[in-house]
Amino acid sequence: MNKAVNEREAELNFRAYHTDLTKMPNKRKLFDDIDYLIRKECDGFLLIRFRVLEFEELNFSLGLDIGEELQLAAANRLMALEDEAQFYQLYPSEFALLTACNTVQADEQSINVILQCLSGLVNLQRISVTLHTASGYCYYPKHGENARELLHNAGIALQQAMKLKVPSLEFASSMAESALMRVRLTHELTEAIEGDQLTLHFQPKLNLKTSRIDKVEALVRWIHPELGMIPPDEFIEIAETTGQIDALTDWVIKNALNQLGIWKELGFSLGVAINVSAVNLKQKCFDSQVLNLIAQCGCDASMITIEVTESALAEDPEQALLILDRLSDCGLSISIDDYGTGYSSLSQLKQLPASELKIDKAFILNVATDEHDKTIARSTLRLAQQFGLRTVAEGIEDKASLKWLTENGCDYAQGYFISRPQPAEQLTLWLNTLNEQSWPIEEPVNYLS
Ligand code: C2E
Ligand code: CA
Ligand code: CA
Repeated sequence: MNKAVNEREAELNFRAYHTDLTKMPNKRKLFDDIDYLIRKECDGFLLIRFRVLEFEELNFSLGLDIGEELQLAAANRLMALEDEAQFYQLYPSEFALLTACNTVQADEQSINVILQCLSGLVNLQRISVTLHTASGYCYYPKHGENARELLHNAGIALQQAMKLKVPSLEFASSMAESALMRVRLTHELTEAIEGDQLTLHFQPKLNLKTSRIDKVEALVRWIHPELGMIPPDEFIEIAETTGQIDALTDWVIKNALNQLGIWKELGFSLGVAINVSAVNLKQKCFDSQVLNLIAQCGCDASMITIEVTESALAEDPEQALLILDRLSDCGLSISIDDYGTGYSSLSQLKQLPASELKIDKAFILNVATDEHDKTIARSTLRLAQQFGLRTVAEGIEDKASLKWLTENGCDYAQGYFISRPQPAEQLTLWLNTLNEQSWPIEEPVNYLS
């Protein structure tokens, strides 16, 4: 009787501290073990949280069985290393490692061990998949004084590693601040889009064949009531991951088209380029929405360019192509933005209804002096010409770069040397200083402010 009670108790105890499926120690056990190490006044330890990046996609697309199989395969690999460190499973796709060694060399070894152990090919019943992991880590006592804080901070480092697409990151207090800021911006973005906190700046595109400013690019900014101006790089990605990008793009298109109408009334003939995110192109009726907005504003579709990045096209090329084909058929121009930073193949480029290629500023900022950048820019200009694409160089910050691009047959120039992005009213004043929208290429006025 006593034996049965003891066995039952041992089993309940085991269950409380291990996961049902893989039988690995769970989060509760990790909390207890960290508390134990702190109570016994150990000198220090390292805590790593790491995640199998492919898990969610496999689980959703191939089903729960594959997900479970993957968890078991990962657990088996980790348990084989148990002599070296203690492993835990926190969530189906997330594990942790606790090790008392805290010399830098030992830490690097530990991190490499798991990254190598879980990465690479794994054979599941029906398929073989190549796995990748991301990890975030922190130290006791440097990064926290209790289990909750340490786990939280290793989690922040993990999140940051995934966001930056790097294999591993050590926690830093600046990450916690930026994580807090992210939470705040995520909550307040809806209000910003619905309320009146977004605004557009416009940056001119100079036509190098005619010396005229005949297009502008619309660039969104968030004027936060307390934080001031927030640049798009800080909130577009949040809008994309929280499902708010459709509302944001909608707002941008409406306001850009409205401004085009105002300029038209003032006698300026301008086209506008609008940035569209990869997430927009996944939405099936995006093309109809854009066309409706154009119809409502009574704008000429040929005055509108849609800028998409190479990576946006790589994510779901078929769906993106359907949308872009329809917009192009209806008269809009399609521009490939940030060209050179992604990995679009020539065959992919050929399928696109694109009419413009924008060479990324990374290759343009120093194009007048850097031979490597010259080679890339020159070959891109040639490639674009062969495909019958108009070329735009962005990021022109000096006269020499503008001269080099003009001489090398580039069609359009955009950059601080010509004008920074400006609010519409300010740009109107700037346009008024030009003679019939002609930019003084010979004697450029330096509008850097
Ligand atoms: P992008 O589309 O590549 O826009 C060009 C960025 O380069 C702009 O930054 C612009 O201010 C900057 N730039 C222009 N000329 C120069 C120059 O001569 N030198 C340097 N160093 N930079 C220059 P911005 O406005 O901060 O926008 C950053 C990114 O945010 C944009 O990159 C675009 O990807 C995204 N973005 C902006 N507005 C929107 C929007 O309405 N929707 C979406 N989906 N993304 C947007
Ligand atoms: Ca752009
Ligand atoms: Ca760009």
